[in-house]
Amino acid sequence: MKKALLAITTSLLFTSGLFAQAKPEDTEYYTPVPPIVKPGSGPFDAPADAIILFDGKNIGEWVMSNDTTAKAKWIVDNGMMTVDKKTGDIQTKRRFTDFQLHIEYRIPENITGTGQARGNSGIFLAAFPGNAGGYELQVLDNYNNTTYVNGQAGSIYKQSPPLVNACKKPGEWQTYSVIWTAPRFNDDGSVKSPGRITALHNGVLVQNNYELKGDTPYIGKPAYKKHGAAPIKLQSHGDKSEPISFRNIWLRVL
Ligand code: MG
Repeated sequence: MKKALLAITTSLLFTSGLFAQAKPEDTEYYTPVPPIVKPGSGPFDAPADAIILFDGKNIGEWVMSNDTTAKAKWIVDNGMMTVDKKTGDIQTKRRFTDFQLHIEYRIPENITGTGQARGNSGIFLAAFPGNAGGYELQVLDNYNNTTYVNGQAGSIYKQSPPLVNACKKPGEWQTYSVIWTAPRFNDDGSVKSPGRITALHNGVLVQNNYELKGDTPYIGKPAYKKHGAAPIKLQSHGDKSEPISFRNIWLRVL
C-alpha cells in the first residue's frame, strides 16, 4: 500500500513537471506559421546624426565578446564583415540604452543545412557581461526553411514569432531596422519597465512594440536580471553552415 502510494506520488510529481529536466523543445512551437510577404527594396544610408558602427571597411567599433580587450577578429573584405566561427561572437565597444539600429546581413548563396543550422546568427540588442546571452533578434535563413516559429528570422528568440516571414533569398542583402527601448530596473533589481522592440525586416514590420518577457535563452524561460547600458552583440553560431556577412551598421541614440 505504502509502495503504491509512493509510486503514485512520484508519477504525479513527474507529470506535473516538478522533477522534469528542462529541454530545448519545452520552449519551441510550430504554429501558427507567419505568412510569407515578399519585401521591396530600398536605400538605407545612415542619417547625419548616426553613429557608424560598421562602414564596410573599419571594424574598430567591435571587440571579441569572449575577450573585450581584443579587437574583433571577423573577416573584413569586399565591403562586408564575415563571421569567423573559430573566433566567436563580437560586440560593440560602446554601450547603449535606447536606440534606432540599422543593420544589413547576407546569407551566402550556397548556404546548406536545415532548421536552426542554416545561416544562424543573431543581433543581441543588449549583451550581458561575460558573453552570457541577452536579448536576441534572430538571424536565420527561413526563405525556404522551417523551424520553430518563435525561433525563425525576425523572432525575438523563443518569445515572439515575426508577424510575417519577410526573408529574402540567400545571396541577397537583407535589412533589419530596429527601435529598441531597454528595460529599466529598480534599485532592488526588480523590473521597473520591460524592454520593448519594434523591428522591420526588409522594410516589413515583424515586431510591433513587443514587450519582452526577459532574456532569450536556448533552454529555459526568459527572465530579467538588472543591468544598465550594454553593448550590441552579433552571434557567431556554432552550427556547421557557411558563415554569414554583415555591412552598413549604424545607430541613432534615443
Ligand atoms: Mg541565433
